[in-house]
This record gives sequence, C-alpha cells and structure tokens, in this order.
Amino acid sequence: MKAKLLLIDDSEAQSSQIRLTLERLGYAVEWASSGVEGLKLARSSRPDLVLLDVVMTDIDGFAVCRWLKMNADTREIPVIMLTVRNTVADRVEGLNIGADDYLPKPFQDQELEARIFAALRVKAAHAELKERNLQLETMLHHVEALAITDALTGLFNRRRFADVLKREFAVTKRYKNTLSCLMIDLDHFKRLNDLFGHDAGDQVLKEAARRIQTSLREVDVPARYGGEEFAILLPHTGKLEAYIVAERLRNAIRSAEFNFGGERTVVTASIGISGNIDVPTGHADDLVKAADLALYEAKRQGRDRAVLFDDRTSLPPNSMR
Ligand code: GH3
Ligand code: MG
Ligand code: MG
Repeated sequence: MKAKLLLIDDSEAQSSQIRLTLERLGYAVEWASSGVEGLKLARSSRPDLVLLDVVMTDIDGFAVCRWLKMNADTREIPVIMLTVRNTVADRVEGLNIGADDYLPKPFQDQELEARIFAALRVKAAHAELKERNLQLETMLHHVEALAITDALTGLFNRRRFADVLKREFAVTKRYKNTLSCLMIDLDHFKRLNDLFGHDAGDQVLKEAARRIQTSLREVDVPARYGGEEFAILLPHTGKLEAYIVAERLRNAIRSAEFNFGGERTVVTASIGISGNIDVPTGHADDLVKAADLALYEAKRQGRDRAVLFDDRTSLPPNSMR
C-alpha cells in the first residue's frame, strides 16, 4: 500500500512541484492550501506523514505543528517542516514544538526522499513497539492469572490462599470480627484413582471443586490446597456457622454421582473446622493448622464427617507454635 502524505503549503506553484516529485516517488499525496485546511485534513484522513510549510498566511507552520502534536488523534503522525527560514533559531523552534524533522528550502528531491523515508521508518518502529508492548501486557496478565490459579479446578492455588489468609486474618484482628477455616479432604481418594484411573480422579476433583464453589457465598475464599485437599476461608463467620457450611459442602460433595465404566460411585469428604477463637497465638498459619488437626480427628472418627477443632481433644501436645 502506498504511504499517504499530507502536504500543507499555501503556495500553489511550489506545492504542485513538490507534489509531482512525491507522486513520482510512489507516494499518495493530499494537498492542503492553508494551515486550517491542513489541520482538518490531518484529522479526517490520517496521513502517514505531514510535510508542513512554515510560512503561511492564515496560521504559520509552527502553530499547525503545535496543534497536531497536542491532539491525541494526530500526535503520532510525523511532521517534517519545510522552510526558507533557515536560522538555527527557526530549526530549534520547529524541533522544540515537536516537529520530527526540518528541511530547508530549496532542497534536492533525493534529500526529501531520504527524510520522508527515515520519518516513516521511525513511525513504523513506534507502531510495532506499541503493538509489542500491548502483547506483552496481555501475556503478563495471563501469567499473573496462572500464578494464582489451580489449573485443574480453576480455584485459587495454595500460594494465593496463603496471601488471602494473611490479609483476612489481619482484617479480622483489626475489626474484631470472626473468621473460620475449613480443611476438606476427599476420603479414600487413592482407592478411587486405583479403581477407575487418574482421569476419573481428576473428574471427581473438578466436580467437587465446582460444588464447593457454588455452595459458598461471594466473600468466601475456596482454594485447592493440595492434591485432594481444599481449604476455605469464611470471613465474618463463627465456628458454629462454619459447621453448618461444612455440612452443606459435605452433602454437596457426597450427593454427586459418577459413572466410571458402567459403575456408579460417590465420593465422601472429611472436614476440619477452626475459628480465629482457636488462635490465641495470633499467627494466621495456626488457623490452618487447627483446621488440619480437626480434619485429622474427622478421619480418625471414621471419615465422611465435619469436626470442630477442640483444644481439649484435637490437640496433640506442643503441636501448636
Ligand atoms: P484418606 O481418606 O485418608 O484421605 O485417604 P486418601 O486415599 O484420600 O489419602 P492419600 O493421601 O493416601 O491419597 C491421596 C491421593 O490423591 C493420592 C494421589 O495420587 C491422589 N491425587 C493427588 N492429586 C491428584 C490429582 O490431581 N488427580 C488425581 N486424579 N489424583 C490425585
Ligand atoms: Mg484423602
Ligand atoms: Mg490428603
């Protein structure tokens, strides 16, 4: 495609000569016979480059250039100033207000060609850089999302959970709210994998995650904590309320029926529950540790149940920091 140049010059004789030269070089040329017309054309036809005469009767080239560079629509168009006024001060002024190059009249066609070519090349490089930056930004967003998301279930991963835990725990302390934590572990999951294969296991994990997510409130934070283990933070929730949530989740998981190779199967879950009341140490990590101990107790009592952390029964001595 031909590059499109806009020539703004109020001298008709001079313009037609430059125009001829440019067309011979293979450019498409539009001509504006005044500064005002040039500004209008620059906005409406978006040329690839502007050749701008400095001395014009309505508004001079410096003013036109300033307007072009001030306007977001036209700022990126390179501007080459053409002038017979060729003092150092003139050139400096042109460059100061944002002109990309300066060509004193009279000029050789060759020089004009070389300068146009250079300006267009810079513009193309800019456009490419912009495009690349955009791509890079999109990629970064993607990578960031990947870094906090579990690929199989789409839930937050353990790392992200740790960040949220820290924040929620601090907020809870500050405002003297309640905060509960559930640790969910699927029962006999190894057996399920052994019987029906790893893909079947994955399918169960996905479905369990989906059921967990849809059974929670917007503010609750579920995460995949490990292999077949999920951790959930329940802000503004005391332990007894958390127990009700845990029972709801347990039932949501055990009511899913799977059919693997013609065999119908269900999966159950054990759940440990802790609340910030169980964490006199004030360490956020201990909230998770307490839920983990309660989970261990749920497994010990025979699985498929939710158990509240209780520091008289659940705690082997010195297990807390
Ligand atoms: P328990 O009732 O005591 O929790 O028994 P369990 O078999 O569930 O516990 P165990 O920790 O012995 O086994 C967990 C199994 O989960 C072993 C591991 O292969 C499986 N697992 C972990 N991550 C994944 C996964 O991403 N996909 C599948 N399909 N299996 C997984
Ligand atoms: Mg398990
Ligand atoms: Mg486990």
